[in-house]
Amino acid sequence: MSAKSRTRTPARELLFGNLWEYDPAPETASPHLQDRYTLFVNGKWVAPKTKKFFPSISPRNGEILAEIGQAGAADVDAAYQSAAAAFPAWSKLPGAERGKYLYRIARLLQDRAREFAVAETLDGGKPIKESRDFDVPMAAAHFFYHAGWADKLDCVMPGKKLAPLGVVGQIIPWNFPLLMLAWKLAPALACGNTVVLKPAETTSITCLKFATILQEAGLPPGVVNFVTGAGETGAAVVNHPLAKKIAFTGSTAVGKGIQRALAGSGKKLTLELGGKAANIIFEDAAIDQAVEGIVNGIFFNQGHVCCAGSRLLVQESIASSVLQKLKIRLRSLRVGDPMDKNTDIGAINSLKQWEKIDELVKTGVAEGAELYQAPCVLPQRGYYYAASIFTNVSLSHRIAQEEIFGPVLSVLTFRTPEEAVEKANNTPFGLSAGVWTDKGSLILKMSSELKAGVVWANTYNKFDPTSPFGGYKESGFGREGGKQGLLEYAEMV
Ligand code: NAP
Ligand code: MG
Repeated sequence: MSAKSRTRTPARELLFGNLWEYDPAPETASPHLQDRYTLFVNGKWVAPKTKKFFPSISPRNGEILAEIGQAGAADVDAAYQSAAAAFPAWSKLPGAERGKYLYRIARLLQDRAREFAVAETLDGGKPIKESRDFDVPMAAAHFFYHAGWADKLDCVMPGKKLAPLGVVGQIIPWNFPLLMLAWKLAPALACGNTVVLKPAETTSITCLKFATILQEAGLPPGVVNFVTGAGETGAAVVNHPLAKKIAFTGSTAVGKGIQRALAGSGKKLTLELGGKAANIIFEDAAIDQAVEGIVNGIFFNQGHVCCAGSRLLVQESIASSVLQKLKIRLRSLRVGDPMDKNTDIGAINSLKQWEKIDELVKTGVAEGAELYQAPCVLPQRGYYYAASIFTNVSLSHRIAQEEIFGPVLSVLTFRTPEEAVEKANNTPFGLSAGVWTDKGSLILKMSSELKAGVVWANTYNKFDPTSPFGGYKESGFGREGGKQGLLEYAEMV
């Protein structure tokens, strides 16, 4: 890019940036919420034996959306007993019949897409345009994809048959509640397993609404059971003796604890944990596209993304122009009510997460990094955080090492591809990375040297049910999606 065109951009921004504003564009569909949700066990709604309920709060404004049943050990046991009772018939169904249920579930979710998108946004705080255009359609796509596998399991590994494992326990986080549920349920059911699943405490609503889809689809009772609650409920799911496999998505700290708890138990385990991805921009990249990729990489879903491009590595020769463009782009990002269709960055999922982000940002400033926050007016109620960029970051800073899981980008520079690889790999995590360059050969070199389960080239945060996703090092092990994901829910016979 010539120096002339670089200087033109700020001028355009000054011209338009202050002159026009969007009108409010509120999403108005009803999420059809109940005041209170009990547990979903053996195809029925059952009150928790603990007799306890906890509130699900909307981070959009701090209001209580519904009360959620708190499952104790006896409730988790009932869920496992029902899943174990359902297993023989479900696993013996011809694959084509299991596939029909999965197709039905996918279609019912599509039919109720708008309602689910609104519920997801209210409960979790993500912008409605993301839940509408990404979370819900992708969740349906996972059921469609795995429905297609259900009658073709003999083709996954030539010469081998796949047998289900039995009852699987699944635990999911709050950043993509419905989508993580789909990633977990669809392959487990396609292979003929039955399931006990626990959603995250702050985002149980779309999981419980999903139970109504399972009922509408006529899924046999006990094939899927939902137990809600916090970490203790999760621990009861992990430690139940009937579980043949545990599939966990969440933080590295909890994942390590689960791995320790399961050592020697014979249970199969997959862990999808945290990340601190490098998004690497070379000087020959298409800079404007790369700037969009940086924005998408870190500000999608408020940065509550395990594979977020939270460390920007930019080649020194273009660093100042990339940063200038990035700061200008940030000023046009709309932070605010997630129910507004024009919102780019919605609400932080919970007060606890807001405090964690703020603490790390303050640490970044204290350690000497330079903070830029785009000027914006944040709503008075609810949990909101301005899009934030740190420059002058060194590798030893906490903001360069720890997962912030918020809309905060740490910028580092490099001179050579070798230095980029070294800096990118200088983290305990290994989930994802991005490479932006004009040269195919450099893409191939970088993707083979980066220690990351997924490497995107000239794009970021692209997902597809056919494509396996997962990490290594402290980002966990096992894959979700594709043929590889199916194999995590079956044994070869
Ligand atoms: P988290 O605290 O580890 O929680 C994840 C799930 O585990 C929640 O359902 C949680 O319940 C439950 N849990 C908590 N303590 C437990 C215990 N001792 N035993 C069993 N289950 C327990 O993680 P989070 O803060 O919700 O999620 C964010 C993390 O997930 C980030 O680190 C992110 O990178 C990671 N993540 C990874 C992927 C991936 O594919 N690699 C995808 C998405 C997110 P409660 O929340 O109800 O307490
Ligand atoms: Mg909530």
